[in-house]
Formats: sequence, C-alpha cells, structure tokens
Amino acid sequence: MTDLIIIGAGPGGYETAIEAAKRGMSVTLINDGPLGGVCLNEGCIPTKTFCHYAGKEDFATVAERKEAVVSQLRKGVAYLLKNPNITIVEGKARFKNAQTVVVNGAEYVAKDIIIATGSKPAMLPISGADSEIVFTSTDVLNLKELPESIFVIGGGVIGLEMASYLHRFGVEVTVLEYAPQLLPNFDAEISKRLKMLLTKQGIRIETDAQVTAIDDEGFVTYQKKGQEYNVECDKVLMAVGRTPNTETLNLEAAGVTYNRKGIEVDDNMQTSIPHIFAIGDVNGKMMLAHVATFQGYRALNSIQGKTDKIKFNMVPAAVFTIPEVASVGLTEALCDDEELDYKVVKVPFGTVGKAIAMGEPDGFCKLIIDKETRIILGCHIMGVHASDLVQEVVTMMNIGVTIDDAKDIIHAHPTLNEIIQIAIHQAE
Ligand SMILES: Cc1cc2nc3c(=O)[nH]c(=O)nc-3n(C[C@H](O)[C@H](O)[C@H](O)COP(=O)(O)OP(=O)(O)OC[C@H]3O[C@@H](n4cnc5c(N)ncnc54)[C@H](O)[C@@H]3O)c2cc1C
Repeated sequence: MTDLIIIGAGPGGYETAIEAAKRGMSVTLINDGPLGGVCLNEGCIPTKTFCHYAGKEDFATVAERKEAVVSQLRKGVAYLLKNPNITIVEGKARFKNAQTVVVNGAEYVAKDIIIATGSKPAMLPISGADSEIVFTSTDVLNLKELPESIFVIGGGVIGLEMASYLHRFGVEVTVLEYAPQLLPNFDAEISKRLKMLLTKQGIRIETDAQVTAIDDEGFVTYQKKGQEYNVECDKVLMAVGRTPNTETLNLEAAGVTYNRKGIEVDDNMQTSIPHIFAIGDVNGKMMLAHVATFQGYRALNSIQGKTDKIKFNMVPAAVFTIPEVASVGLTEALCDDEELDYKVVKVPFGTVGKAIAMGEPDGFCKLIIDKETRIILGCHIMGVHASDLVQEVVTMMNIGVTIDDAKDIIHAHPTLNEIIQIAIHQAE
C-alpha cells in the first residue's frame, strides 16, 4: 500500500506527484498515454510553438520543430519524475472500490487517491459532427499538410489561438461563435477590439452564429439573426469546449459523485468520498494547466492537514492570438453583478515607448480598482506580451497591494511593464 495514488500525469498529476514525493510521501502515478498529458502533448505547448512561429517560417519546418519541442519536454518530465518515492504505472486506471484501483489486471491500494484524468474535446450534437472533414484541436496540431480553408466552430481560447496561427500560415479562416462576443468570459471591450483586429488581419468572424449541420461535401450550415447560411469549406475545427474524462474510471464503484461538468469537489478538491480528490480539467472548475497544478497542491495540503494561501479567484488566463490577451480577477461586468464601487483606468500601448519602438502599438491595459480599499480587483490586457505583463498584477493582487503602495514601485525604462506603472499613476 502506498501513501498516494495519482491517476493521470498531466500538469495536475505529474506536478502533484513531484511535490508529494518531495514531502516524503510514496506515490504511485498511473497514466494512460504520454507523460505530460494534454498540455504538453496536444495542448498548451504544441499550440504555442505554432503560435510563435506561424508567419515567420514555413509550416513543415514549424511542425517538425513542434515535435522536437514536445519530445524534449516529455523527456524533461520523465527526468523530474525519477524519484525513489514515485512509481510510474502505465495503463488505464479503473476503480474496483473506494480503496482499490485496477490497472491491466493488477490492483493498487493507497491511503489517499487523487484523480487527475483531464478532459477531451467536446463535440456539438449536430448532424455531421462525426464527418471526416471535422477536426478536433488534437487533429489540427497533428496535421502534416494544411487545408486551404477551415471553419472554426467556437470563438473561445482554443478556437481563436488556432484561427490566428492557421491564418498566418495562409489558411483561409472563418470563425463561427454562438455567443454575441468572442471570448465570452473576458472583458467585453477586449473581445470587441480583438474581433476588429483579427478581422482586419483577414479572418472572417461571425458572432451570434449557431451551427446546425455539417456535411461530408464540405458545407457548414448556420443560423444568424433568423437567416440560414450554407457555406462551403475544406475542413472544420470543432472548438466548442472540453468534456471531463470520467467515463473510464468506473466512479460508481468508488461512490464518487460526478455530473456532466465533471467530478464534484469542494474547495479542497475533496470528492464525495473523503480520501478521494479530483484536480484539474476532470473537476471542470477552470480548465487551465496552472490551475490543475495548484489544485493538486491544495489537495496535498488538505491530505496533510495544512492550510495554504492559494487564491483561486486570482488566476491569470492568456490567449495567444496576435495581439495577445491576458486577464486576472474581476471584469467590469462581474463588478456590476456584485454591485461593487469601482473605477476603471485604461492605458493604450501607444503611450509606451518600448511598444512603439517594437512597432506594436495595438491594444491597451485596463485596471479595475476598488474605490474604497484602493486594491486592484482585475486587470485586462490586450497587446504585445500581455501574457507576461499580467503576472505583475497577479502578484500585486495576491499580496493585496493598494495603488498608493504600487505607485512607488520603480519600473525599468524602456519596458512594456511601464504600461502598468502608467495605469497605476492614472488611477491615483
Ligand atoms: C489546444 C489546447 C491549448 C491549450 N492551451 C493552454 C494554455 O495555453 N494554457 C493553459 O493553462 N492551458 C491550456 N490548455 C488547457 C490545458 O491543456 C489543460 O487545462 C491541462 O492539460 C489539464 O491538466 P490535467 O492534469 O487536468 O489533465 P491532462 O493534461 O488532460 O492529463 C490527464 C492525463 O490523464 C490520462 N488519463 C485519462 N484517463 C485515465 C485513466 N483512466 N487512467 C490513467 N490515465 C488516464 C490522460 O491520458 C492524460 O495523460 C490547452 C488545451 C488545449 C486542448
């Protein structure tokens, strides 16, 4: 019997295994598929490789580089997991009962169990969703040749990142989004401006568009404002969200409660069975790699009776389009819902020397500040290196820095981070 069984070696499972081993626990890490999970093999890393090089080098060269990057990082994960406290078991895990997990006929028992089995692409329940011309994000990342044109169904993070890089490789791209705005949970102004900029680059975007059917001949049917459209394309990317991987686990045998959105957990990632935890995409709370990792740390802390200061309401999120989008904390819409008394400052990248020198004047940084406490409630950035810039604000928010304290922080010149300094000074 080991201290801990972890099922799944994505950024939730493998990072938690490393941390648990460091804390002296014996860990059995069970994984079906390559180490690193979706993030490393068919998610964050391959996508960002394409996003970075698209438009700079030809597709075949970048596709080859993507393979090399993934393979190098996979070796890195294997190296990090080489620890006498960690035993890796390859195969699909299935619960026999709440204490026992079966893999390839062998039984494993542990004091505590963490489920980190991730998610898979969701498909719309429409006719033709299983047609040969329909790709998932995984299929697109593994293409050897690019199609001439593609319809991307879904203007969320995955759909837009892929639309953006495919377009830069010369593919004719149309994005169809069901909601009235792209990136539905992001700052509304950023969504609007991003739509404008991507359209200007040559991507066709339809919001309020409901796809109703796809056929093998390459026709996509969608409804918009009461009218039906039937448009021809080469391929379709289905990017309408992800479904938690619960079905192979035999959760009923363990008594773990789950629903369509994932395994039900409390704030400690504890399931309906006290010694079983669920972290990452499989609990459906927030499908991001860094969230999976920190939910794993929270679960470990809970197992060991420790408290922590991890704040799951201050999670940065980024979209690697050109320009990039990044965000943390509350949007104006959420502040309104919560009836908060707040003020907004907005600074364009065009006022930042380094952005001008780089030829990157598009976008802005928006800070949302609580009028009474003067702490930052949210930050929304669209522009060059937004994904890196937002982290400074994440740190301030975590520590609870007021704008009065922040105004005295010296920023180097010329740097892109000066946009945050300017915003803080304007907020005074
Ligand atoms: C195209 C794309 C781009 C993305 N980009 C980003 C990004 O830029 N930033 C970001 O934060 N997130 C990004 N994500 C999301 C991110 O990949 C996921 O949030 C993250 O991988 C979730 O980690 P996880 O540990 O929960 O599960 P996963 O990474 O899904 O890993 C789960 C592992 O469990 C294994 N498994 C499943 N069932 C079993 C079983 N029964 N027994 C044993 N093993 C099993 C799986 O094979 C897999 O190896 C992206 C996702 C996609 C698809």
